[in-house]
Amino acid sequence: MEFNPFVKKYRKGMRRVALVYPNRYVGGIANTGLQYIYAKINELDAVCERFYSDVFDGLRSVETATPLSEFDVALFSLQYETDYFKAVEISRNFRGLKIAGGPCVMENPKPLLRYFDAFFIGEVEGHVEEILNAKDVEDLQGLPGIYTGREESVRRVYAKLGKHMQREIIGYGAYGRCFLLEIGRGCIRRCRFCIVRQIYFPPRWRKREMLPEVGEDKVAIIAPSPSDHPEFREILQQYVDEGKEVSPSSIRADTLDEELVDLLKLAGVKTLTIAPEAASPELQEILNKGIDAEDVYHAAELARGRFDKIKLYYMIGLPGENFSDVEAIVEQAVKVKGYVRKVEVSVNPLVPKPHTPMQWLPFGGKENVKEGINELRKKLSLIAERCRKAGIETDVSGVREFILQTILSRGDEDVVEVMEGAGYRRFGKYLEAIDVSSELPWDFIDHGYRKSSLLREYEKIFNHSTQD
Ligand code: SF4
Repeated sequence: MEFNPFVKKYRKGMRRVALVYPNRYVGGIANTGLQYIYAKINELDAVCERFYSDVFDGLRSVETATPLSEFDVALFSLQYETDYFKAVEISRNFRGLKIAGGPCVMENPKPLLRYFDAFFIGEVEGHVEEILNAKDVEDLQGLPGIYTGREESVRRVYAKLGKHMQREIIGYGAYGRCFLLEIGRGCIRRCRFCIVRQIYFPPRWRKREMLPEVGEDKVAIIAPSPSDHPEFREILQQYVDEGKEVSPSSIRADTLDEELVDLLKLAGVKTLTIAPEAASPELQEILNKGIDAEDVYHAAELARGRFDKIKLYYMIGLPGENFSDVEAIVEQAVKVKGYVRKVEVSVNPLVPKPHTPMQWLPFGGKENVKEGINELRKKLSLIAERCRKAGIETDVSGVREFILQTILSRGDEDVVEVMEGAGYRRFGKYLEAIDVSSELPWDFIDHGYRKSSLLREYEKIFNHSTQD
């Protein structure tokens, strides 16, 4: 059961807006952007209802079970490339105005151009009303952030963070049943693989006085890197003092000290999650995350006696990576296990994302993509097997999903055929290394960075890389 303080009855003459999240309810309800859009539309002379892939197969609303076809506008939120399949399937059942937004759209909407009338590139706060006033594509053209396929370039729109929402829909989402507290957007760090930093630039924080009083027993603190917030500890302390369970979306290992670890324990955090991303110094340099082995062991030392479990996140398929770098991951995890009872290792292949300095890299980290993919599989098996022997849990992904993510994120309009059943193997060209002088499908989006500065960062990768 969910608590929805915004639910509104439809009256004749109102605009009916479908808010479609083409994935499961648990993810959609834990999304602060969707919470905001929903509340905002219901403040206007319109009624907004939600659609999730696991509720009526995404074809009837959660609120009233009204069929999607009865709505005037459908706003789709695309958070993950693999949601494109469901998004296309749902959109085929809708004849009204279809607009998509979300991080995947800010990354590269080209593969979905055939299925949507328009895309909103950016953070939609402040633009909801003007978008809903549009009756057709012509009305949308020329609005900030709008891309219909005809514009030569679009500048991404970002929002000034105002006071936090006072009320939200409370349902059982990815962080449990809780109030979502978005304390910041964007990131001050410069990790070379990270698209979040690029598409949510500039970093913005909500000051403590902008945060609401929360009635729920649990608060999820949301930001790309919450522990970088200048008042992070004060915010955490405030909600802990109010007797709430508080769960931050992630914590950087290099921000941990005894005081913070104690506070996290008091907040009810059960597992300390750290993302070193790589275990060997050369690869850490390439990623530019700024977390080294010393930070990891220091965090493990702090966790001793306070936490039962540490979860470690790594990436493989980096340029110059060899089997000894992968063995270093297992060695690091084994060492961490010396401090706590349980360790879990999660390993994902790198997706060289658009707009990042890694956008020109081949998937798998090798010029010969096939060889890179074969090696990825071997590396993942090696990690799974060695960890199993060492009594370490693993969360090791299949390579196929990451191949698909790379194709869908770096593809052009032709990639739409993958959603139409063509099979992704025909699009292997999008896995290959990209010539730095070539025009890219996502070059039309102006995120505010200069391509020459990305290129400088890209070149630094090879100054560190040991690739032969
Ligand atoms: S990986 Fe995390 S710390 Fe690095 S830029 Fe992205 S959000 Fe920031």
